[in-house]
Amino acid sequence: MALSDDLRDLYQQVILDHSRSPRNHGRLEGEGCLHVHGDNPTCGDEIDVWVKIGPEGQVEDIKFEGQGCAISQASASMMTVKMKGADAARLRTLMQDFRAVVTGEGQVQDEDALGELTLLEGVQKFPQRVKCATLAWRAVEQALQQSQSGGHA
Ligand code: ZN
Repeated sequence: MALSDDLRDLYQQVILDHSRSPRNHGRLEGEGCLHVHGDNPTCGDEIDVWVKIGPEGQVEDIKFEGQGCAISQASASMMTVKMKGADAARLRTLMQDFRAVVTGEGQVQDEDALGELTLLEGVQKFPQRVKCATLAWRAVEQALQQSQSGGHA
């Protein structure tokens, strides 16, 4: 990837900002809150995601805690910003688009909606880093499967 210097600076600023000051940091409690733990042993990243899915499949609330590399934590933080309040369709598009950005496979449907997350496309070349970037996202996928099967964590 040929990143301009400006874009590289922006990437570093955004990743550092989100990893140092994570958004939606913390836990959720109460009825209908799903909790999923994810880890990425090759890098030592850990993520706990709490998500509350509404009756229409919308994300009513989402929070996370975790530790690990800056990419894993920044990706989780940016993810929660984009997912909070998203309806089911938007959530699906976000997840598909983010996967397309970090793997380089498939088409991105709505680049504007991804916003800062598109900066993570640099991980494409590094399979280990793809695992860092997608850790929190895989946790949400797991939570959605739980909510669809009616199981509450
Ligand atoms: Zn990592």
